[in-house]
Amino acid sequence: MDSSFLANGQFLHLSRFQPETFANQASLTLPNHTTIDILAPGIVEVTPASQAGKFIVLSCGVHGNETAPIEICSDMLDAIVEGTIIVQHKILMIFGNLPAMNAGERFIEENMNRLFSGAHQNGSSPERQRAKLLEDTVAQFFAKAVGGEERLHYDLHTAIRDSKNDKFVVMPYLGDGRLPSAKQFGFLAACGVDTFLLSSAPTTTFSYFSSAQFKARGFTVELGKVRPFGENDMRSFAAARASLTALVSETDYAPAATMSELLVYKVNQVINRQHKDFALHFSDDAPNFTDFKQGTLLASEPGAEYVAQQDGEAIVFPNAKVALGQRALLTVVPTTLETLDV
Ligand SMILES: [Zn+2]
Repeated sequence: MDSSFLANGQFLHLSRFQPETFANQASLTLPNHTTIDILAPGIVEVTPASQAGKFIVLSCGVHGNETAPIEICSDMLDAIVEGTIIVQHKILMIFGNLPAMNAGERFIEENMNRLFSGAHQNGSSPERQRAKLLEDTVAQFFAKAVGGEERLHYDLHTAIRDSKNDKFVVMPYLGDGRLPSAKQFGFLAACGVDTFLLSSAPTTTFSYFSSAQFKARGFTVELGKVRPFGENDMRSFAAARASLTALVSETDYAPAATMSELLVYKVNQVINRQHKDFALHFSDDAPNFTDFKQGTLLASEPGAEYVAQQDGEAIVFPNAKVALGQRALLTVVPTTLETLDV
């Protein structure tokens, strides 16, 4: 396979519109001796000419209409193929939900970012099949990190609604005694993120899967608001783009963060929709991280009322239209981190 299948956005384009092009795995070695293995439509593994330092998963488009991260990753792949970015680490780049991208939708049948850690098993929707493939691919990738190399996974998204804090990160629950990483706060802050949400329990997201299964530092990174392809204001993504480029091309890109300048929240309530008559009691366009006074009614359904339990309790990811049993609202409260890992 020659580089014309990869450069100038062709890998993403062909993966979306002629996925059969990549039905068989193929490999390409660039003039600078970087190797690119095409593993499946929308999935490439990049191996540096030098000894790989870190193992980094960059995923985007797990929700098909979250276009800015897809454009950032596609541009980064182009630059790698052209040789203007020379990677120093092993990279697994994943374009998640290709049919949903083509449809301009978040998903075709169901939300793929609720189907990891085996949750894909009961059914055969396109998202379930893809989630299984992504899990297997990530497992094989991290299995190659036999020398104790650092394992990282940044799952890049944009949010459905505005956010008071434009860029924020959901940090998977660390159930294994690990502490959050100071170095990762530094990297994410350099991407323009100032708000961090610490999860309180295991979930079925892609980043939690990598964190729990492979001890990766995994993050769901929300970089801004959903817009159609070509309509993103790339200026607002410049810091993320530059930092991701530095991450893959520098031996050890390690900007420091001033923790006191960052907003850190922890989950207070997880409110699942149990009834078809579920209602949210704040404005439809209330931004993520809007906060309320104690006692404010936030949501209700027959038999239940959900109120802010303390002053400053803020809403994240409200969606009254989720399937029954699924999360319709998270509430979060400010917290501080006493100790961090390196
Ligand atoms: Zn998303």
